[in-house]
Amino acid sequence: MSTEDLVVLRPQGLYCPAGDFFIDPWRPVARAVITHAHADHARRGHGAYLASARGAGVLRARLGEITLQTAEWGEAVHLNGVRVSLHPAGHVLGSAQVRIEHGGQVWVVSGDYFVSGNHDRNATCDAFEPQRCDCFVTESTFGLPIYHWPAQAQVLAEINDWWRSNAEAGRPSLLLGYSFGKAQRLLAGADASIGPIVVHGAVEPLNRAYREAGVALPATLLLEALDDKAALRRALVVAPPAVHGSAWARRLGEFSDAFASGWMQLRGARRRQGVDRGFVLSDHADWPGLQRAIAATGAERVIVTHGYEAVMVRWLQQQGLQAGSFRTEFGSADDADVLPLPPAPVSLPAGG
Ligand SMILES: [Zn+2]
Ligand SMILES: [Zn+2]
Repeated sequence: MSTEDLVVLRPQGLYCPAGDFFIDPWRPVARAVITHAHADHARRGHGAYLASARGAGVLRARLGEITLQTAEWGEAVHLNGVRVSLHPAGHVLGSAQVRIEHGGQVWVVSGDYFVSGNHDRNATCDAFEPQRCDCFVTESTFGLPIYHWPAQAQVLAEINDWWRSNAEAGRPSLLLGYSFGKAQRLLAGADASIGPIVVHGAVEPLNRAYREAGVALPATLLLEALDDKAALRRALVVAPPAVHGSAWARRLGEFSDAFASGWMQLRGARRRQGVDRGFVLSDHADWPGLQRAIAATGAERVIVTHGYEAVMVRWLQQQGLQAGSFRTEFGSADDADVLPLPPAPVSLPAGG
């Protein structure tokens, strides 16, 4: 068995020396394996891309014309003699974990993934499938013990209740969520009997890619296409967080607004964002979900990429695992179109 690391950190990004390829590189490289199409993981300018077949549509919707090779879930692709395969991560449509096998070792790079302590799943994409490995390179966006997601069915019911009461009061409901992934999850959970569903122009191309991939979403309209003022007052309007306070939002007249994000679990986050409501709905693993996902890999070594690295590394070491971190350029928010919401300073509960 070789003891050489299958993934190392280079200025361009996470690199597999044996296979001579990068995973989600942040600078242009010759060959990139892409976990998913969020802006901080999938960038323009690489020579050749490898991504999941399930994610090809959304990747092209975001990056345009690229040299793209796709792989089905679990299909082996040999890069420079290294066996690479992609496995569902449950985060957004087509999101993949990258499994790398070489010299008797198996490493898995998670990308972003959704595993919830309460066993919910994201209905708009394939569920996370744990892969046994020697080393697991994991995200840790919500890697603090305070993060426990409420049941998704309950959150979606609260969103529909909020929308219904706004519709009865005659004001549109502006629901802010990232254009890719969160918006489609919100749409899939929306009760279309309440009123029309309007989406921002940044959301609709992603909806199209989801529909083409066979994901059922309710009918959506662009704001420009809805000139019936009475209908607008009953509408759910799904838009990226960046429209908050914009001229586009003012076209809605008087409205109620809400932000759907894992960050809404932080005390004071809703108020800092200046929205009427905050709904805790995340496409990332919560603290118990991260623990469950890591345990399921059986890995003895874990490397943390982005999120609360220090807290997660310390916890892993306490479990007797070999743990470290890579300083990556992946973001704490899922997209470029976000409100500037940095992870707030939090005090850890005593005793972890
Ligand atoms: Zn990420
Ligand atoms: Zn992501």
